[in-house]
Amino acid sequence: MDSTPLFPKVNLRNRIIVRKLKVFKENEETQRLIRRQAEHDAMTDALNRGSFEKLLHMYENGDTPYALILIDVDTFKTVNDMYGHAVGDEILKKVTGLLKKAFRSIDHVCRIGGDEFAIIMVEMTSDLKYTIEEKIKAVNEELGTENENIPAVSLSVGVAFSDRENSGKSIFKDADKALYYVKENGRNGCKFY
Ligand code: GH3
Ligand code: MG
Repeated sequence: MDSTPLFPKVNLRNRIIVRKLKVFKENEETQRLIRRQAEHDAMTDALNRGSFEKLLHMYENGDTPYALILIDVDTFKTVNDMYGHAVGDEILKKVTGLLKKAFRSIDHVCRIGGDEFAIIMVEMTSDLKYTIEEKIKAVNEELGTENENIPAVSLSVGVAFSDRENSGKSIFKDADKALYYVKENGRNGCKFY
């Protein structure tokens, strides 16, 4: 029996399958990239405000204990005015990098505004507040030393736990109250609601 015509057909079919798989994988990768861009802030690569709101809503309606950490760079307008916007941008990237390094990969580091960040720290209860204090202290120490032409800055931080006592209207408002207290009392520090 002459089998020669069969092989070109099989080869062609295999080539078509391989090509289709390649296109499928490329589409998948494109979708992944589009999703990533939609969820992240382009400059710092932190999660963006939209992602933060979705995540917070999810945790507010879930059973996992968590801490909401609100962070604002101190006197950032003055830093921009003195050193320029480009240096300001570098500071925001440095802050993001240090926060990501200090917290765990399961925590969600988000940039929610110009110089405002939020971290949703998961599996956290109020008895572990010292771990947050230590992390923020370490980040502020690092930011407090000028290096590679990036001036020293500091962060003010307000924290509220999902298991807090005397909770107010929302965890965001409670963490914001704690942050406001730090801003009003010398900045460069961390306060718990
Ligand atoms: P405070 O200690 O009270 O927070 O003082 P502040 O000067 O930091 O005040 P505020 O937080 O209101 O200022 C935020 C500033 O952040 C204002 C704006 O010029 C600056 N900013 C916002 N987005 C960006 C950005 O993408 N890059 C840079 N370089 N600056 C930004
Ligand atoms: Mg600020």
